[in-house]
Amino acid sequence: MSRPDYDVLIIGGGLVGASLACALRGLPLRVGVVEARPLEDGAQPSFDARSLALAWSSRRIFEALGLWEAVAARGAAPIRRIRVTDRGRFGTTRLEAARHGVEAFGYVVESRVLGAVLGPALAAAANVDHHCPAEVTGVALEGGLARVAVETPGGARELSARLLVAADGTRSRVRELCGVGTVRLDYRQSAVIANIRTSEPHGDTAHERFTPCGPLALLPLALAGTGADGRRLDTGCEWSLVWTHPPEEATRLAALDEAGFLAALQPVLPKEAGEVLAAGTRHVYPLGMVQARAQVRPRLAIIGNAAHTLHPVAGQGFNLGLRDVAALAEVLAAAAGTGADPGAGAVLERYARWRRRDRLQVSAFTDALVRVFSNDRLPVAAARNAGLLALDLLPPLKNVLARHAMGLAGRLPRMVMGLPPAHGPEPCP
Ligand SMILES: Cc1cc2nc3c(=O)[nH]c(=O)nc-3n(C[C@H](O)[C@H](O)[C@H](O)COP(=O)(O)OP(=O)(O)OC[C@H]3O[C@@H](n4cnc5c(N)ncnc54)[C@H](O)[C@@H]3O)c2cc1C
Repeated sequence: MSRPDYDVLIIGGGLVGASLACALRGLPLRVGVVEARPLEDGAQPSFDARSLALAWSSRRIFEALGLWEAVAARGAAPIRRIRVTDRGRFGTTRLEAARHGVEAFGYVVESRVLGAVLGPALAAAANVDHHCPAEVTGVALEGGLARVAVETPGGARELSARLLVAADGTRSRVRELCGVGTVRLDYRQSAVIANIRTSEPHGDTAHERFTPCGPLALLPLALAGTGADGRRLDTGCEWSLVWTHPPEEATRLAALDEAGFLAALQPVLPKEAGEVLAAGTRHVYPLGMVQARAQVRPRLAIIGNAAHTLHPVAGQGFNLGLRDVAALAEVLAAAAGTGADPGAGAVLERYARWRRRDRLQVSAFTDALVRVFSNDRLPVAAARNAGLLALDLLPPLKNVLARHAMGLAGRLPRMVMGLPPAHGPEPCP
Protein backbone atom coordinates (compact mmCIF):
# COMPACT_ATOMS: atom_id res chain seq x y z
CA MET A 1 0.00 0.00 0.00
CA SER A 2 1.42 3.43 -0.94
CA ARG A 3 2.10 5.98 1.78
CA PRO A 4 -0.93 8.28 2.23
CA ASP A 5 -0.53 12.06 1.83
CA TYR A 6 -1.58 12.68 5.43
CA ASP A 7 -2.04 10.98 8.78
CA VAL A 8 -5.03 13.22 9.48
CA LEU A 9 -7.01 15.11 6.83
CA ILE A 10 -9.52 17.63 8.22
CA ILE A 11 -12.34 18.70 5.92
CA GLY A 12 -13.56 22.17 6.93
CA GLY A 13 -11.17 24.78 8.27
CA GLY A 14 -13.88 26.71 10.12
CA LEU A 15 -14.03 27.27 13.87
CA VAL A 16 -13.79 23.60 14.83
CA GLY A 17 -11.60 22.26 12.00
CA ALA A 18 -9.04 25.07 12.35
CA SER A 19 -8.98 24.56 16.14
CA LEU A 20 -8.26 20.84 15.67
CA ALA A 21 -5.46 21.55 13.21
CA CYS A 22 -3.92 23.97 15.74
CA ALA A 23 -4.25 21.34 18.49
CA LEU A 24 -2.31 18.85 16.32
CA ARG A 25 0.59 21.28 15.72
CA GLY A 26 3.83 19.89 17.01
CA LEU A 27 2.62 16.26 17.15
CA PRO A 28 4.44 13.70 14.97
CA LEU A 29 1.50 13.67 12.52
CA ARG A 30 1.19 15.02 8.96
CA VAL A 31 -1.99 17.06 8.89
CA GLY A 32 -3.99 18.49 5.97
CA VAL A 33 -6.90 20.94 6.10
CA VAL A 34 -9.28 21.37 3.15
CA GLU A 35 -11.38 24.54 3.34
CA ALA A 36 -13.77 25.85 0.69
CA ARG A 37 -13.74 29.56 1.62
CA PRO A 38 -10.72 31.74 2.49
CA LEU A 39 -10.90 33.81 5.68
CA GLU A 40 -11.07 37.06 3.75
CA ASP A 41 -14.03 35.85 1.62
CA GLY A 42 -17.15 37.78 2.71
CA ALA A 43 -19.16 34.56 2.36
CA GLN A 44 -16.93 32.55 4.77
CA PRO A 45 -19.69 30.86 6.80
CA SER A 46 -17.77 30.13 10.01
CA PHE A 47 -15.82 33.32 10.73
CA ASP A 48 -18.75 35.70 10.24
CA ALA A 49 -20.48 38.49 12.14
CA ARG A 50 -21.81 36.40 15.02
CA SER A 51 -20.51 36.82 18.54
CA LEU A 52 -19.93 33.61 20.47
CA ALA A 53 -20.18 33.00 24.19
CA LEU A 54 -17.07 30.95 24.94
CA ALA A 55 -17.37 28.87 28.11
CA TRP A 56 -14.60 28.87 30.71
CA SER A 57 -13.53 25.45 29.37
CA SER A 58 -13.09 26.98 25.91
CA ARG A 59 -10.83 29.70 27.31
CA ARG A 60 -8.69 26.95 28.84
CA ILE A 61 -8.55 25.14 25.49
CA PHE A 62 -7.41 28.34 23.73
CA GLU A 63 -4.80 28.73 26.49
CA ALA A 64 -3.59 25.20 25.79
CA LEU A 65 -3.36 26.17 22.10
CA GLY A 66 -1.23 29.16 23.11
CA LEU A 67 -3.78 31.48 21.49
CA TRP A 68 -5.83 32.93 24.35
CA GLU A 69 -3.66 36.04 24.80
CA ALA A 70 -4.09 36.91 21.12
CA VAL A 71 -7.88 36.40 21.38
CA ALA A 72 -8.14 38.50 24.56
CA ALA A 73 -6.02 41.27 23.01
CA ARG A 74 -8.51 41.56 20.15
CA GLY A 75 -11.53 41.75 22.45
CA ALA A 76 -13.07 39.20 24.81
CA ALA A 77 -15.79 40.48 27.13
CA PRO A 78 -16.04 38.53 30.42
CA ILE A 79 -19.42 37.12 31.48
CA ARG A 80 -19.31 37.51 35.26
CA ARG A 81 -23.05 37.23 35.79
CA ILE A 82 -25.87 35.33 34.08
CA ARG A 83 -29.46 36.41 34.58
CA VAL A 84 -32.32 34.19 33.38
CA THR A 85 -35.79 35.76 33.27
CA ASP A 86 -39.22 35.02 31.86
CA ARG A 87 -40.76 38.09 30.29
CA GLY A 88 -43.88 39.29 32.13
CA ARG A 89 -43.57 36.61 34.83
CA PHE A 90 -41.97 36.38 38.25
CA GLY A 91 -39.43 33.56 37.68
CA THR A 92 -35.80 34.62 37.69
CA THR A 93 -32.38 33.07 38.36
CA ARG A 94 -29.06 34.81 38.89
CA LEU A 95 -25.63 33.21 38.68
CA GLU A 96 -22.43 34.97 39.88
CA ALA A 97 -19.07 33.68 38.64
CA ALA A 98 -17.26 34.79 41.82
CA ARG A 99 -19.46 32.45 43.87
CA HIS A 100 -18.26 29.54 41.74
CA GLY A 101 -14.57 30.37 42.18
CA VAL A 102 -13.88 31.69 38.66
CA GLU A 103 -13.38 35.24 37.37
CA ALA A 104 -15.95 34.66 34.60
CA PHE A 105 -18.33 31.95 33.37
CA GLY A 106 -16.97 32.63 29.93
CA TYR A 107 -16.18 35.35 27.39
CA VAL A 108 -17.95 36.87 24.40
CA VAL A 109 -15.73 36.90 21.32
CA GLU A 110 -16.52 37.70 17.70
CA SER A 111 -16.26 34.69 15.44
CA ARG A 112 -14.16 36.84 13.07
CA VAL A 113 -11.65 37.47 15.87
CA LEU A 114 -11.19 33.73 16.32
CA GLY A 115 -10.58 33.44 12.55
CA ALA A 116 -7.99 36.22 12.69
CA VAL A 117 -6.11 34.29 15.42
CA LEU A 118 -6.54 30.71 14.16
CA GLY A 119 -5.67 31.58 10.50
CA PRO A 120 -2.07 32.76 11.06
CA ALA A 121 -1.46 29.99 13.64
CA LEU A 122 -2.43 27.40 11.01
CA ALA A 123 -0.32 29.05 8.35
CA ALA A 124 2.73 28.93 10.65
CA ALA A 125 2.35 25.25 11.62
CA ALA A 126 5.18 23.21 10.07
CA ASN A 127 3.23 19.91 10.05
CA VAL A 128 -0.03 21.34 8.62
CA ASP A 129 -0.87 21.93 4.92
CA HIS A 130 -3.80 24.26 4.29
CA HIS A 131 -5.64 23.63 1.00
CA CYS A 132 -7.85 26.70 0.44
CA PRO A 133 -9.95 27.41 -1.54
CA ALA A 134 -10.61 23.71 -2.09
CA GLU A 135 -13.91 21.87 -1.92
CA VAL A 136 -14.47 18.18 -1.22
CA THR A 137 -16.68 16.54 -3.84
CA GLY A 138 -16.09 12.82 -3.25
CA VAL A 139 -14.94 10.42 -0.50
CA ALA A 140 -14.01 6.73 -0.51
CA LEU A 141 -13.14 4.87 2.70
CA GLU A 142 -11.50 1.66 1.49
CA GLY A 143 -8.30 -0.33 1.52
CA GLY A 144 -7.29 1.01 4.94
CA LEU A 145 -7.29 4.60 3.64
CA ALA A 146 -9.58 7.59 3.13
CA ARG A 147 -9.41 8.99 -0.40
CA VAL A 148 -10.89 12.41 -1.01
CA ALA A 149 -11.68 14.12 -4.33
CA VAL A 150 -11.06 17.86 -4.10
CA GLU A 151 -11.94 20.70 -6.51
CA THR A 152 -9.50 23.61 -6.51
CA PRO A 153 -9.18 26.66 -8.81
CA GLY A 154 -6.24 24.79 -10.39
CA GLY A 155 -8.37 21.70 -11.15
CA ALA A 156 -9.40 18.42 -9.51
CA ARG A 157 -7.03 16.39 -7.33
CA GLU A 158 -7.09 13.48 -4.90
CA LEU A 159 -5.79 13.46 -1.32
CA SER A 160 -5.40 10.41 0.88
CA ALA A 161 -5.15 9.99 4.65
CA ARG A 162 -5.21 7.38 7.39
CA LEU A 163 -7.89 9.37 9.21
CA LEU A 164 -10.49 11.69 7.69
CA VAL A 165 -12.10 14.24 10.04
CA ALA A 166 -15.42 15.76 8.95
CA ALA A 167 -15.53 19.31 10.38
CA ASP A 168 -17.54 20.71 7.49
CA GLY A 169 -20.54 22.01 9.42
CA THR A 170 -24.26 21.34 9.67
CA ARG A 171 -24.75 20.34 6.01
CA SER A 172 -21.62 18.17 6.04
CA ARG A 173 -20.91 16.84 2.55
CA VAL A 174 -18.43 14.35 4.00
CA ARG A 175 -21.03 12.94 6.39
CA GLU A 176 -23.43 12.54 3.47
CA LEU A 177 -20.82 11.02 1.12
CA CYS A 178 -19.91 8.50 3.84
CA GLY A 179 -23.57 7.50 4.22
CA VAL A 180 -23.91 8.63 7.84
CA GLY A 181 -27.55 9.58 8.45
CA THR A 182 -28.88 12.31 10.74
CA VAL A 183 -31.69 12.94 13.21
CA ARG A 184 -33.19 16.39 12.63
CA LEU A 185 -35.50 18.62 14.61
CA ASP A 186 -36.92 21.72 12.99
CA TYR A 187 -37.82 24.20 15.74
CA ARG A 188 -39.60 26.42 13.19
CA GLN A 189 -37.55 29.27 14.57
CA SER A 190 -34.97 31.65 13.15
CA ALA A 191 -32.58 33.88 15.05
CA VAL A 192 -32.20 37.59 14.32
CA ILE A 193 -28.64 38.56 15.21
CA ALA A 194 -27.49 42.16 15.66
CA ASN A 195 -25.19 44.24 17.81
CA ILE A 196 -27.23 46.77 19.75
CA ARG A 197 -26.42 49.76 21.94
CA THR A 198 -28.40 50.54 25.07
CA SER A 199 -28.39 53.36 27.62
CA GLU A 200 -27.29 51.26 30.63
CA PRO A 201 -23.92 49.55 31.23
CA HIS A 202 -24.02 45.78 30.87
CA GLY A 203 -22.11 45.10 34.07
CA ASP A 204 -20.54 42.00 32.47
CA THR A 205 -23.96 40.35 32.61
CA ALA A 206 -25.39 37.96 30.02
CA HIS A 207 -29.18 37.87 29.90
CA GLU A 208 -31.19 34.86 28.86
CA ARG A 209 -34.81 35.93 28.53
CA PHE A 210 -37.78 33.87 27.54
CA THR A 211 -40.60 35.47 25.60
CA PRO A 212 -43.79 34.03 24.09
CA CYS A 213 -42.20 34.05 20.58
CA GLY A 214 -38.98 32.36 21.64
CA PRO A 215 -35.81 32.94 23.67
CA LEU A 216 -33.74 36.12 23.52
CA ALA A 217 -30.09 36.30 24.56
CA LEU A 218 -28.10 39.47 25.26
CA LEU A 219 -24.35 39.01 25.48
CA PRO A 220 -22.07 41.80 26.75
CA LEU A 221 -19.54 43.02 24.16
CA ALA A 222 -16.05 44.35 24.74
CA LEU A 223 -16.32 47.01 22.03
CA ALA A 224 -17.63 49.87 24.15
CA GLY A 225 -18.84 50.74 27.59
CA THR A 226 -15.42 50.35 29.22
CA GLY A 227 -12.72 52.99 29.19
CA ALA A 228 -9.05 52.23 28.56
CA ASP A 229 -8.51 52.34 32.33
CA GLY A 230 -11.15 49.63 32.82
CA ARG A 231 -13.74 51.99 34.33
CA ARG A 232 -17.28 52.00 33.01
CA LEU A 233 -18.25 54.79 30.64
CA ASP A 234 -21.67 56.32 31.17
CA THR A 235 -22.45 56.57 27.46
CA GLY A 236 -24.16 53.20 27.32
CA CYS A 237 -22.74 49.97 26.04
CA GLU A 238 -22.94 47.33 23.36
CA TRP A 239 -24.47 43.90 23.37
CA SER A 240 -24.80 41.07 20.92
CA LEU A 241 -28.49 40.23 20.49
CA VAL A 242 -29.79 36.78 19.51
CA TRP A 243 -33.58 37.10 19.18
CA THR A 244 -35.57 33.99 18.20
CA HIS A 245 -38.85 34.07 16.30
CA PRO A 246 -40.91 32.02 13.88
CA PRO A 247 -39.07 32.27 10.52
CA GLU A 248 -41.47 34.72 8.79
CA GLU A 249 -41.45 37.07 11.78
CA ALA A 250 -37.65 36.95 12.00
CA THR A 251 -37.41 37.93 8.32
CA ARG A 252 -39.93 40.74 8.84
CA LEU A 253 -38.11 42.12 11.89
CA ALA A 254 -34.72 41.99 10.20
CA ALA A 255 -36.10 43.98 7.26
CA LEU A 256 -37.56 46.80 9.41
CA ASP A 257 -35.86 50.18 9.36
CA GLU A 258 -33.76 50.87 12.46
CA ALA A 259 -36.45 52.90 14.25
CA GLY A 260 -39.03 50.17 13.65
CA PHE A 261 -36.64 47.46 14.84
CA LEU A 262 -35.76 49.37 18.03
CA ALA A 263 -39.47 49.96 18.77
CA ALA A 264 -40.21 46.23 18.41
CA LEU A 265 -37.23 45.27 20.57
CA GLN A 266 -37.61 47.69 23.49
CA PRO A 267 -40.60 45.98 25.18
CA VAL A 268 -38.87 42.59 25.37
CA LEU A 269 -35.49 43.78 26.67
CA PRO A 270 -34.69 43.26 30.35
CA LYS A 271 -35.20 46.53 32.20
CA GLU A 272 -31.55 46.55 33.39
CA ALA A 273 -30.48 47.26 29.77
CA GLY A 274 -32.36 50.58 29.79
CA GLU A 275 -33.29 52.25 26.52
CA VAL A 276 -32.18 50.67 23.26
CA LEU A 277 -30.43 53.41 21.24
CA ALA A 278 -29.08 51.77 18.08
CA ALA A 279 -28.89 48.48 16.19
CA GLY A 280 -26.23 47.38 13.68
CA THR A 281 -26.67 45.16 10.62
CA ARG A 282 -29.14 42.35 11.19
CA HIS A 283 -28.59 38.75 10.07
CA VAL A 284 -31.09 35.88 10.10
CA TYR A 285 -30.10 32.23 10.83
CA PRO A 286 -32.59 29.34 10.55
CA LEU A 287 -32.44 27.15 13.68
CA GLY A 288 -32.72 23.43 14.17
CA MET A 289 -31.02 20.50 15.80
CA VAL A 290 -29.06 18.04 13.66
CA GLN A 291 -27.37 15.00 15.20
CA ALA A 292 -25.25 12.59 13.14
CA ARG A 293 -26.33 8.96 13.73
CA ALA A 294 -22.67 7.98 14.19
CA GLN A 295 -19.68 9.99 15.39
CA VAL A 296 -17.08 7.61 13.93
CA ARG A 297 -16.73 5.07 11.15
CA PRO A 298 -13.58 3.17 10.18
CA ARG A 299 -11.14 5.90 9.02
CA LEU A 300 -13.67 8.68 9.81
CA ALA A 301 -14.39 10.97 12.79
CA ILE A 302 -17.20 13.54 12.68
CA ILE A 303 -16.82 16.61 14.92
CA GLY A 304 -18.33 20.05 15.58
CA ASN A 305 -21.54 21.06 13.83
CA ALA A 306 -21.17 18.15 11.39
CA ALA A 307 -21.73 15.85 14.39
CA HIS A 308 -24.17 17.98 16.39
CA THR A 309 -25.80 21.28 15.51
CA LEU A 310 -27.66 22.90 18.40
CA HIS A 311 -30.07 25.78 18.86
CA PRO A 312 -27.93 28.78 19.96
CA VAL A 313 -30.18 29.54 22.97
CA ALA A 314 -27.65 28.23 25.48
CA GLY A 315 -24.56 29.26 23.46
CA GLN A 316 -23.10 25.75 23.56
CA GLY A 317 -22.49 24.67 19.92
CA PHE A 318 -18.89 25.79 19.47
CA ASN A 319 -18.04 25.02 23.10
CA LEU A 320 -19.15 21.43 22.57
CA GLY A 321 -17.22 21.29 19.27
CA LEU A 322 -14.06 22.55 21.00
CA ARG A 323 -14.36 19.77 23.57
CA ASP A 324 -14.57 17.32 20.62
CA VAL A 325 -11.30 18.88 19.44
CA ALA A 326 -9.63 18.54 22.86
CA ALA A 327 -10.67 14.89 23.26
CA LEU A 328 -9.79 13.89 19.68
CA ALA A 329 -6.40 15.64 19.89
CA GLU A 330 -5.63 13.80 23.14
CA VAL A 331 -6.62 10.41 21.71
CA LEU A 332 -4.57 11.07 18.55
CA ALA A 333 -1.58 12.28 20.58
CA ALA A 334 -1.69 9.07 22.62
CA ALA A 335 -1.91 7.00 19.41
CA ALA A 336 1.01 8.91 17.88
CA GLY A 337 2.99 8.28 21.08
CA THR A 338 2.66 4.51 20.64
CA GLY A 339 2.95 4.51 16.86
CA ALA A 340 -0.69 3.38 16.51
CA ASP A 341 -2.66 4.06 13.31
CA PRO A 342 -4.72 7.25 13.97
CA GLY A 343 -7.60 5.90 11.86
CA ALA A 344 -7.76 2.49 13.58
CA GLY A 345 -11.16 1.42 14.91
CA ALA A 346 -9.91 1.11 18.51
CA VAL A 347 -8.54 4.68 18.50
CA LEU A 348 -11.76 6.13 17.10
CA GLU A 349 -14.01 4.10 19.42
CA ARG A 350 -12.08 5.47 22.39
CA TYR A 351 -12.83 8.99 21.14
CA ALA A 352 -16.53 8.24 20.48
CA ARG A 353 -17.05 6.67 23.93
CA TRP A 354 -15.41 9.61 25.64
CA ARG A 355 -17.57 12.23 23.88
CA ARG A 356 -20.91 10.43 24.06
CA ARG A 357 -22.09 11.64 27.46
CA ASP A 358 -21.17 15.33 27.05
CA ARG A 359 -22.78 15.44 23.59
CA LEU A 360 -26.02 13.81 24.73
CA GLN A 361 -26.28 15.91 27.91
CA VAL A 362 -25.64 19.25 26.23
CA SER A 363 -27.95 18.42 23.29
CA ALA A 364 -30.78 17.28 25.58
CA PHE A 365 -30.35 20.30 27.87
CA THR A 366 -30.44 22.73 24.94
CA ASP A 367 -33.46 21.00 23.39
CA ALA A 368 -35.34 21.10 26.72
CA LEU A 369 -34.58 24.81 27.13
CA VAL A 370 -35.98 25.57 23.69
CA ARG A 371 -39.14 23.54 24.25
CA VAL A 372 -39.93 24.63 27.79
CA PHE A 373 -39.12 28.27 27.21
CA SER A 374 -40.89 28.62 23.87
CA ASN A 375 -44.18 27.38 25.31
CA ASP A 376 -46.56 29.93 26.76
CA ARG A 377 -49.36 27.57 27.78
CA LEU A 378 -50.28 28.36 31.38
CA PRO A 379 -49.32 25.08 33.14
CA VAL A 380 -45.94 24.97 31.35
CA ALA A 381 -45.30 28.66 32.07
CA ALA A 382 -46.21 28.22 35.76
CA ALA A 383 -43.95 25.15 36.14
CA ARG A 384 -41.13 26.98 34.37
CA ASN A 385 -41.42 29.96 36.71
CA ALA A 386 -41.49 27.74 39.78
CA GLY A 387 -38.40 25.98 38.36
CA LEU A 388 -36.50 29.26 37.90
CA LEU A 389 -37.38 30.34 41.45
CA ALA A 390 -36.35 26.97 42.89
CA LEU A 391 -33.09 27.17 40.97
CA ASP A 392 -32.46 30.62 42.42
CA LEU A 393 -32.98 29.36 45.96
CA LEU A 394 -31.03 26.08 45.75
CA PRO A 395 -27.22 26.55 45.61
CA PRO A 396 -26.45 22.86 44.80
CA LEU A 397 -28.68 23.05 41.71
CA LYS A 398 -27.02 26.31 40.73
CA ASN A 399 -23.62 24.67 41.06
CA VAL A 400 -24.65 21.95 38.61
CA LEU A 401 -25.97 24.53 36.14
CA ALA A 402 -22.83 26.69 36.50
CA ARG A 403 -20.49 23.74 35.89
CA HIS A 404 -22.40 22.89 32.71
CA ALA A 405 -22.39 26.56 31.59
CA MET A 406 -18.60 26.61 32.10
CA GLY A 407 -18.18 23.32 30.22
CA LEU A 408 -16.63 21.64 33.26
CA ALA A 409 -18.93 18.63 33.72
CA GLY A 410 -17.77 15.03 33.23
CA ARG A 411 -14.24 13.70 32.54
CA LEU A 412 -12.25 16.53 31.03
CA PRO A 413 -9.56 16.41 28.35
CA ARG A 414 -6.12 17.74 29.31
CA MET A 415 -6.61 20.83 27.13
CA VAL A 416 -9.56 21.91 29.31
CA MET A 417 -6.96 22.15 32.09
CA GLY A 418 -4.82 24.35 29.84
CA LEU A 419 -2.36 21.48 29.10
CA PRO A 420 -1.14 20.23 25.70
CA PRO A 421 -2.90 17.09 24.37
CA ALA A 422 0.17 14.80 24.48
CA HIS A 423 0.78 13.01 27.78
CA GLY A 424 3.09 10.14 27.05
CA PRO A 425 2.30 6.62 26.02
CA GLU A 426 -0.38 5.61 28.55
CA PRO A 427 -3.77 5.03 26.91
CA CYS A 428 -6.69 7.48 27.10
CA PRO A 429 -10.08 6.22 28.36
C1 LIG B 1 -26.86 32.64 15.64
C2 LIG B 1 -25.89 31.71 16.25
C3 LIG B 1 -25.29 32.01 17.46
C4 LIG B 1 -24.38 31.11 18.04
N1 LIG B 1 -23.85 31.41 19.27
C5 LIG B 1 -23.01 30.53 19.85
C6 LIG B 1 -22.42 30.81 21.12
O1 LIG B 1 -22.69 31.85 21.75
N2 LIG B 1 -21.55 29.90 21.67
C7 LIG B 1 -21.26 28.72 21.02
O2 LIG B 1 -20.49 27.90 21.57
N3 LIG B 1 -21.79 28.43 19.81
C8 LIG B 1 -22.66 29.30 19.22
N4 LIG B 1 -23.17 29.02 17.98
C9 LIG B 1 -22.78 27.77 17.31
C10 LIG B 1 -21.46 27.90 16.53
O3 LIG B 1 -21.53 28.97 15.63
C11 LIG B 1 -21.20 26.60 15.79
O4 LIG B 1 -21.24 25.54 16.71
C12 LIG B 1 -19.83 26.63 15.08
O5 LIG B 1 -19.86 27.57 14.03
C13 LIG B 1 -19.52 25.25 14.50
O6 LIG B 1 -18.28 25.29 13.85
P1 LIG B 1 -17.87 24.18 12.76
O7 LIG B 1 -16.46 24.51 12.40
O8 LIG B 1 -18.21 22.84 13.26
O9 LIG B 1 -18.84 24.41 11.53
P2 LIG B 1 -18.93 25.72 10.53
O10 LIG B 1 -18.77 26.92 11.37
O11 LIG B 1 -20.18 25.52 9.79
O12 LIG B 1 -17.66 25.54 9.60
C14 LIG B 1 -17.63 24.55 8.59
C15 LIG B 1 -16.50 24.90 7.62
O13 LIG B 1 -16.44 23.86 6.63
C16 LIG B 1 -16.29 24.44 5.34
N5 LIG B 1 -16.86 23.49 4.35
C17 LIG B 1 -18.15 23.10 4.24
N6 LIG B 1 -18.29 22.19 3.26
C18 LIG B 1 -17.05 22.01 2.73
C19 LIG B 1 -16.54 21.19 1.69
N7 LIG B 1 -17.34 20.35 0.95
N8 LIG B 1 -15.23 21.25 1.39
C20 LIG B 1 -14.39 22.06 2.10
N9 LIG B 1 -14.82 22.86 3.11
C21 LIG B 1 -16.14 22.82 3.43
C22 LIG B 1 -17.06 25.75 5.42
O14 LIG B 1 -16.62 26.68 4.45
C23 LIG B 1 -16.74 26.20 6.87
O15 LIG B 1 -15.57 26.99 6.93
C24 LIG B 1 -24.08 29.91 17.39
C25 LIG B 1 -24.68 29.60 16.15
C26 LIG B 1 -25.57 30.49 15.59
C27 LIG B 1 -26.21 30.15 14.28
